[in-house]
Amino acid sequence: MSHSIPTTGLLTFPTLAIAPAQVMRGVQILQDAGPILARYGQRPLIVGGDRSLEIIRPRLLSVMEQQGLVSAEISYGQDCSEQSLGRMRQAAATHTADFIMGVGGGKALDAAKLLAYQCNLPIVTIPTTAATCAAWTALSNVYTETGAFQYDVGLPHCPNLLLLDYEVIATAPTRTLVAGIGDALAKWYEASVSSGHSQQTLIIAAVQQARVLRDILLQKSVEAIDRPGSTVWQEVVDATVLMAGAIGGMGGAQCRTVAAHAVHNGLTHLSQVHSSLHGEKVAYGILVQLRLEELLQGSQLAVSARQQLIEFYQTIGLPLTLKDLGLGSVSLDALEKAAEVACSPESDIHRLPFAVTPVQLLSAMVSTTATFELNTAAKSFNVKLNSSGNPGELNAPIAEELA
Ligand SMILES: [Zn+2]
Repeated sequence: MSHSIPTTGLLTFPTLAIAPAQVMRGVQILQDAGPILARYGQRPLIVGGDRSLEIIRPRLLSVMEQQGLVSAEISYGQDCSEQSLGRMRQAAATHTADFIMGVGGGKALDAAKLLAYQCNLPIVTIPTTAATCAAWTALSNVYTETGAFQYDVGLPHCPNLLLLDYEVIATAPTRTLVAGIGDALAKWYEASVSSGHSQQTLIIAAVQQARVLRDILLQKSVEAIDRPGSTVWQEVVDATVLMAGAIGGMGGAQCRTVAAHAVHNGLTHLSQVHSSLHGEKVAYGILVQLRLEELLQGSQLAVSARQQLIEFYQTIGLPLTLKDLGLGSVSLDALEKAAEVACSPESDIHRLPFAVTPVQLLSAMVSTTATFELNTAAKSFNVKLNSSGNPGELNAPIAEELA
């Protein structure tokens, strides 16, 4: 669902917002980014989280000095919320900012993008983790001050400039890359359900790319996590930060999210869940979605997909269960509440090809690791983790079966 934002009225953009106007990537590219940054203005407001601002500050200091840029910083605070956006608009006005730089993870970048739109200023994004594709997309999620998902806002264009510095990404905990892998995997499981039968050229393209993205992640993630900073690690960072964003851009709102993100959105309403990352909740949500397809549709393909993912999650450290998300002792009441939020009328869960009630969702949520009854054909779907093969070729039979 997309809402209008208070300062600007209704947002309906018939434009395609596929990609940032410019993407620069490489190791330690920030130090060379000065002349490009200076083309957007002289007085950037830098929006980030406390950790990100600390990491970026020394790296941008000489760049700012060389170019004579006068910057100010503001932390987005607790969350990308209407309150924090109000505070940031005030800061942008006080600084007479002429462009916005977002540095950080998903929430910081979402806040910076929406702020730039509200202030009608150019936006430069600098991701400090590979946990989401927020540096790329024309979309911001808005939460309450306590982290409960409120709504998302579609923006008229992707960022003006995305600076992907692998040296910066390498400073983030491995867990953030793992979460990014979970979030990026959801592209296939959600887009194939919501848009797998679309006749629209760009949506067909997006769904196919989501499948390729899944294959790349299944093949390269283990090696990437073992060897931070390596070429294969950079390829997986590109997959979670850039390719996932490109798929979202090409597919547009129609092929974004289904049950995996709806489950995530429901879980954000539980106070106990805020120690887990977006991509971790989404990864768990994929298993819930597959379990729903299994329980309510009798889908054998969902059974094999779930088994494949469970093995993969165990290898790289993504959560399989509510307990893994830190919700092992949460009350039934609380879980019911999360399930109700996930099934609210405007929720993307209703893009599933069958109706889902909160009770059915709850039973899927507590049985993500239920034992499999696999037929022989299903067993042959197992992906061999192999970093050297061509993803398309290696997984073609699986892809066909799951399509
Ligand atoms: Zn996501």
